[in-house]
Amino acid sequence: MAEIVVIGAGLSGTLMAYELVPQLRKGDRLTLIGEGSVFHFVPSNPWVAVGWRQRPEIEVDLAKIMKRKDIRFITIGAKRLHPEENRVEIEDGSSIPYDYLVIATGPDLAFDEIPGLGPNGHTQSICHVEHASKAHAAFEAFCAQPGPVVVGATQGASCFGPAYEFAFILDTELKKRGLRDRVPMTFVTPEPYIGHLGLDGVGDTKSLMESELRERHIKWVTNARVKTIGSGTVEIEEVGEDGAVRESRTLPFGYAMLLPAFRGVSAVRGIEKLANPRGFILVDKQQRNPTFPNVFAVGVCVAIPPIGPTPVPVGVPKTGFMIESMVTATAHNIGALLAGRTPNRHPTLNAVCLADFGNGGVAFVAQPQIPPRNVNWSAKGAWVHLAKVAFEKYFLRKVKRGESAPFYERFLMDKLNIRKLKESA
Ligand SMILES: Cc1cc2nc3c(=O)[nH]c(=O)nc-3n(C[C@H](O)[C@H](O)[C@H](O)COP(=O)(O)OP(=O)(O)OC[C@H]3O[C@@H](n4cnc5c(N)ncnc54)[C@H](O)[C@@H]3O)c2cc1C
Repeated sequence: MAEIVVIGAGLSGTLMAYELVPQLRKGDRLTLIGEGSVFHFVPSNPWVAVGWRQRPEIEVDLAKIMKRKDIRFITIGAKRLHPEENRVEIEDGSSIPYDYLVIATGPDLAFDEIPGLGPNGHTQSICHVEHASKAHAAFEAFCAQPGPVVVGATQGASCFGPAYEFAFILDTELKKRGLRDRVPMTFVTPEPYIGHLGLDGVGDTKSLMESELRERHIKWVTNARVKTIGSGTVEIEEVGEDGAVRESRTLPFGYAMLLPAFRGVSAVRGIEKLANPRGFILVDKQQRNPTFPNVFAVGVCVAIPPIGPTPVPVGVPKTGFMIESMVTATAHNIGALLAGRTPNRHPTLNAVCLADFGNGGVAFVAQPQIPPRNVNWSAKGAWVHLAKVAFEKYFLRKVKRGESAPFYERFLMDKLNIRKLKESA
């Protein structure tokens, strides 16, 4: 009998638990450790922030589902991982031993790295549903007294799609309310050019995103480093190609949302040879840590090096489909180990993404994510918004049903030639 433990019951950890179930032998036990029992669908957070979704619409209580699937569900959170001792210390001081562990703890949000950043400072966030609810209350107050808006991401951020989405969604909602003419908007980003997305662009994202910003009268600043945020002002430095500061500016705002840099969570940060200096988990091609080979990692917590040097640091995004490919590879690899075989599955790490603008959007496929690519495609259109709404409903249904990838999803992706797995010889 083996003990298999997954830490983190978010997007990757929940699917991880579902995909591990069919891999278990009789007598093996699967434990999922979360922080609370409620799952929320992170990609819908921007909609919560403008009031297009209510929080309960994007939340699922996992307790009953996990029970139905015979997955032990611990909801008090992991305090510290002890990989030399094969145990996870949980918040009440007790320990959960494991034979195989999957870390799926997502990001720790590094608001503290910039004075005044984040929901405890002066800017809003959409990274967590709680932040998005707070951002919505602030948005309603802002609409009563409109002023300038600043949206974007800070240096070291790796998740740019939601920043663009939020700028466009705000623009759409402000137009609906007849307030857009009273709201100058600025998009601030460390990316070297608009549409870089941490991926050196995908297809024509540079032109698509630039023209979308232009059409919506949103000004932008690239190569931007945020220095400090006060009540109603963002201090930024615009950096040149050589990394030297070209201009310092103060941007006033009545409402601001800036995505922070991510780092690994405190339960794993600082564990030598498990995590890199930012606390992201080091993994090989099979999602296994080279020093602790019974430890795997999936999702945003995984260390992926930047795509290349940029004047201001820019991370690589870990998008949903890429994460699902990590999950599927890990499930097969743990299944192989349980069956006494050599694990040999690699995730494809393809980036497939829908960025919604409220009344349209941009879709892209980067296959593989690092250029040069076999597929490097992007397109915009009203269909993207509809596709994103459909995807939300579909994904939440999967979580509620306890399924990771139903047969029709696998069939469709196969037809599109978008695969999750590679196999080594
Ligand atoms: C606003 C936003 C919008 C996004 N939109 C899209 C999109 O449209 N399409 C797309 O492809 N990607 C999108 N992404 C990127 C990515 O798909 C999501 O970030 C996704 O949620 C990442 O999954 P994850 O499991 O790695 O992290 P999360 O979903 O954040 O899950 C991590 C979980 O681990 C838990 N946890 C942390 N520490 C502990 C601990 N010590 N003990 C127990 N549990 C712990 C957390 O509570 C959380 O539930 C978006 C990201 C953001 C921030």
